[in-house]
Order: sequence, then structure tokens, then C-alpha cells
Amino acid sequence: MTHVDDRPAPGGGIPTREHLARIFAAAVRAFPAEACGFVRRSGVRECENAVERRHADGSRTFDRTVTTGYAFTAADLLELARSLDTDDPVLVIYHSHPNVGAYFSAEDQRYAVTDGSPTYPVDHLVVDVTPSGVRGARKFGFCARTRRYVPIQTYGNPMPPDDFPPIEGHPG
Ligand SMILES: [Zn+2]
Repeated sequence: MTHVDDRPAPGGGIPTREHLARIFAAAVRAFPAEACGFVRRSGVRECENAVERRHADGSRTFDRTVTTGYAFTAADLLELARSLDTDDPVLVIYHSHPNVGAYFSAEDQRYAVTDGSPTYPVDHLVVDVTPSGVRGARKFGFCARTRRYVPIQTYGNPMPPDDFPPIEGHPG
């Protein structure tokens, strides 16, 4: 594996402007709940935020609601996994952050990284959405050196701004 900065443009320019428009609309529609879904080269797949449903079946033990977290349904996770063996794999997982900014939370890291490797070979897009709309989004890619997802691209003007202090242990 190479450092995130050494590899080609993540996801080959995914999400496109068209993908972003669709994702931003989904984030606004879901507000104040978190929206979530996948991006493949062929398009955006909006998914149900099943975080509360997954409390009920005991598969998630932490106390989060649709306004503070997201989870995919088992069926959507299966679709994600199956896509990886096709010529149109999921390249980006997106979710929105209502009112808190486009940062990659500790919970996001826990979900995205398993035993020091990406849980899925994807980038993650976090959308900053507020009552007045989407401020922007930030894409995070896996850094093999720090074994964490780090910011790699910014769209629009999300909070926190790009010059926010780098993640500890990562030089930017
Ligand atoms: Zn998050």
C-alpha cells in the first residue's frame, strides 16, 4: 500500500459534480437526520439510514439516532460488498453531518477502519448540512502510514475550513 498522497486521484474524480448535486439534495431532504449512500461511476445510490433499526436488532450497541449517526441496512451492505467484484464498484460512501461540519469523527474512523485497514476499499464523503442548506463536503481517503482516513478533497465551503488543525500525527 502507498501513502494516500502518492496514489492517483482517489476514485478517479468521483463524486462528479452531478453526483454531488444528487447527494446534496438527499442531505437537505433527510435533514435533520443523516443521509447516507454510495457512489459508483454509474451514479448515486441513496440508502436508508437504518441506525435506529439496528439498535432494535442488537447489532449496534452505541446510543445513536438518525440525527447523530448512520448505518446501512444489511441488504445495502450486501449490495456494497457485491459491487466490489464488478466493473462498477462502489468508490465512495457518503453520509451527511447535520449542523456539525464535515469532519471525520472518531465514530466514522471506527466504522471505516478495521484492524488498521479500510473496512471497504472506498473513500468517504461527509456533507456539511444545516437548516439553510449544504455548505459543502469533504472527501476522506485512507492514509496507509497513519492508518486513518484523512481529508483529501474539499467541495464548496464546509465547516470547519480547510486550514483547521491537521489530525494529530498527520502532517496535513
Ligand atoms: Zn460521520
